[in-house]
Amino acid sequence: MEIIDSHTHWGPSLSMGTEVTTQEILNQADHSGVSRIVIFPFPSTALADERINERLLGEANRIKKFIPYYYIPETMKPIPKEKGFYGGKWHWMRGIQDSTSNYEVLKDLKLEEFIEASEKIDLPIVFEEELAFTETFVKKTKSLKIIIPHLGMLGGNPIDFLQSFKSRANVYFDTALAGPDTVMRFIQTIGQERILFGSDIPFGAMKRELEKVLSLPIGDDKKESILSENLRELIGLEQII
Ligand SMILES: [Zn+2]
Repeated sequence: MEIIDSHTHWGPSLSMGTEVTTQEILNQADHSGVSRIVIFPFPSTALADERINERLLGEANRIKKFIPYYYIPETMKPIPKEKGFYGGKWHWMRGIQDSTSNYEVLKDLKLEEFIEASEKIDLPIVFEEELAFTETFVKKTKSLKIIIPHLGMLGGNPIDFLQSFKSRANVYFDTALAGPDTVMRFIQTIGQERILFGSDIPFGAMKRELEKVLSLPIGDDKKESILSENLRELIGLEQII
């Protein structure tokens, strides 16, 4: 079965003063049996200079295993699909990273334009904000595919995220850093079709995160959905294994 990691950070991190190299990600992928990897830039690096998106794209052109996602800048520029991006990363827009949403963003007239354009582009967006912010945002969408990382862990309580979005077919979740019991609760409530495997390198280790999903008490068909099928469908990838 093919395994695709839907959530890793690539390149330099200004805030942490470190760099996740191509080689580091490829080593972890080889070690884990992962054939393709979604990469996106670190927030601090992208906020300082948006050109990291171009560098990341260049690297994905060189390394065919990489699936590049676009870091959505504070100007709320939609994903430039024509350049070859497969998705986007929305991260605490104009707020405090990993901690506080900026609710003024929800009143910005540009937001409606962003959502309209993004629904036409029809690529998924890994979307991280507080629960209340995410609820208001999702209400404004119809078909926009939103992937909530860590089952919502950094934006609130995952179970509250689950209750809020269980009936929203356009809202997906990734398993990165979430506990196996919580992942099971999600699968039991919404099925496996809207759940994606992600490691969140460098905050998670790919092999450990993968073993977590492989150890879940569910059948192989369900594991395959989570490990590759769902993402392939979301971004229109051909199966390669
Ligand atoms: Zn992450």
